[in-house]
Amino acid sequence: MPRNLFNLTRPELEEYFLSIGEKKFKALQVYEWLYQKRVWNIAEFSNIKKEIREKLASDFTLDLITIEKKESDVGTYKYLFRLADNNFIEAVVMLHNYGSSICVSSEVGCNMGCRFCESGRQKKIRNLEAYEIVEQILVIEKDLGLRLSSVVIMGIGEPLDNYDNIIKFITIINDSKGIQIGARHITLSTCGLVPKMYELAKLPLQINLAISLHAPNDTLRNSLMPVNKVYNIATLKQAISDYLKLTSRRITIEYVMLNNVNDSIECAQELANLFKNMNIYVNLIPYNETNHLEYQRSSKAKIMAFYDTLKKNGLNCTIRKEFGSKINAACGQLRGSMKNK
Ligand code: SAH
Repeated sequence: MPRNLFNLTRPELEEYFLSIGEKKFKALQVYEWLYQKRVWNIAEFSNIKKEIREKLASDFTLDLITIEKKESDVGTYKYLFRLADNNFIEAVVMLHNYGSSICVSSEVGCNMGCRFCESGRQKKIRNLEAYEIVEQILVIEKDLGLRLSSVVIMGIGEPLDNYDNIIKFITIINDSKGIQIGARHITLSTCGLVPKMYELAKLPLQINLAISLHAPNDTLRNSLMPVNKVYNIATLKQAISDYLKLTSRRITIEYVMLNNVNDSIECAQELANLFKNMNIYVNLIPYNETNHLEYQRSSKAKIMAFYDTLKKNGLNCTIRKEFGSKINAACGQLRGSMKNK
């Protein structure tokens, strides 16, 4: 079976060339075609001998995921992709004045089952392969005619539940001869799979880590996020603290504001006590309401009061700017709407 060429890191491609008796610098040439010149037809790799091109073409495909649907709102594009096995995934692009960012999916569905999340309602079907995540970037860059400057792994799926493929994806897009997304421009968001957070901390990757906390105590978090029954807040807090020591990189705490659920001043106070004197900052996320779920977004006034309480207690805090709520940008919504047809 031919493999997808976008699934290989540069060292893996070097190994391939050595295994067929060729010089390893050919990997660099191939990377230049794929990621700098963006020529996705092996026959056109003109600085590579014909016999080697033919060998490459028999060992690899360059099949791309395809755009099934595209929606746009001011400064936002949302894509629904069809995979080779007819599964669907989503990615969202946001244009800022300082560059463009993409939110990629990491899995087909998700097994974490967060109560308020649309993706959590749709069980995981399979992991995404690294190339299927790389191609979300490549296909969108081609479609929009631009280069994306930052990547957040916050779409459908739990990235640390697809750990090896995610690390491979990050390695490929971070390569200095490839797509060249700097590690500091890559953010991985997790619901808190603690053992994998420790593995991640040991890697020499300077990426940003975001933790979806969404509640300051176990009772509330258990009711929103089943993962908390496996890794509770004390365990997660210890992992955060160890991660900070090991990496010296600040962690983002994500907190989605759900009306009358987790948005009281008491919750803000509790959250502030939990992270006192730690190198974290809190990102308050206005909830994207979905068609199916009973949760509602907190009012602006409540979000501001929560924000003020955190600030008064010495926590760094931002409120997420909203993008694309008109186009069902809450992760999983577009895919969900496909399935119900
Ligand atoms: N599984 C990972 C990454 C995907 S979810 C994680 O849990 O972090 C990305 C973020 O979006 C998480 O913080 C998640 O809780 C949040 N989220 C899910 N549904 C949402 C919605 N409807 N509105 C706002 N944020 C949502």
